[in-house]
Amino acid sequence: IVKLDQVYKSFGDNQVLKGVSFEVARGEMIAIIGASGSGKSTALRCIDRLETIDSGSIEVAGIRVDDPQVDLHKLRREVGIVFQSYNLFPHLNVLENVMLALRHVKQQDKAEARRVALAALAQVGLDEKANAYPEQLSGGQQQRVAIARSLAMAPKVMLFDEVTSALDPQLTGEVLRVMEDLAANGMTMLLVTHEMNFAKRVADRIIYMHQGRVWEVGPGEMLDHPYTPELQAFLAADL
Ligand code: ATP
Ligand code: MG
Repeated sequence: IVKLDQVYKSFGDNQVLKGVSFEVARGEMIAIIGASGSGKSTALRCIDRLETIDSGSIEVAGIRVDDPQVDLHKLRREVGIVFQSYNLFPHLNVLENVMLALRHVKQQDKAEARRVALAALAQVGLDEKANAYPEQLSGGQQQRVAIARSLAMAPKVMLFDEVTSALDPQLTGEVLRVMEDLAANGMTMLLVTHEMNFAKRVADRIIYMHQGRVWEVGPGEMLDHPYTPELQAFLAADL
């Protein structure tokens, strides 16, 4: 459902992606790991066309993302993306935050948007906080609201970029559980993470990126038996 083929991307003379190719099948959960600066976030951003690529191709749910004429509204309906920062609107309550795009992008009437938003909040275990304001929630709860906001749009693919990096360990756990539930329910997911144990346990496959290239790909056990010296060094540094 997601296919990158020989993707190249530079910022000025800094070549960040050097021929990245991989595929994500429907229902698959893939974790991308790698050192800071290896191009993980850039790869995700290219998939949602927050960045344009220099060459190669990207296809998502039948949409050619690298086509200059791509329908961005259509693409953004199929792809949900969640970042480390939650970017909730502080003056709107939880329910209103989740309803916003349903009303304005999907043009749902108020009752429909409310129903869909509450269902998404229930999926992340926060339907009881529907009337709370973001500042009244913990970081982990706010991140779960951000996930619900994406989920409510019923995307075919969800992208997560280090969504737990700003959270302390206990709050990290509750957000990882939500993602594990999503994966178990068949959501197609591509996530950048530093949580090696989570990646090993939950991901169908792991992609190790090194200096703008896909360096090693394999199932979770790959982390127990790294093949390349680069992945060995990366994992050793992480301990
Ligand atoms: P981290 O683990 O620190 O998040 P990453 O693997 O996600 O790292 P990227 O954010 O993809 O790395 O960045 C890869 C390289 O691209 C870095 O050298 C970064 O400085 C550069 N880069 C990323 N975004 C931009 C941008 N908008 N303009 C210029 N350079 C950028
Ligand atoms: Mg990053």
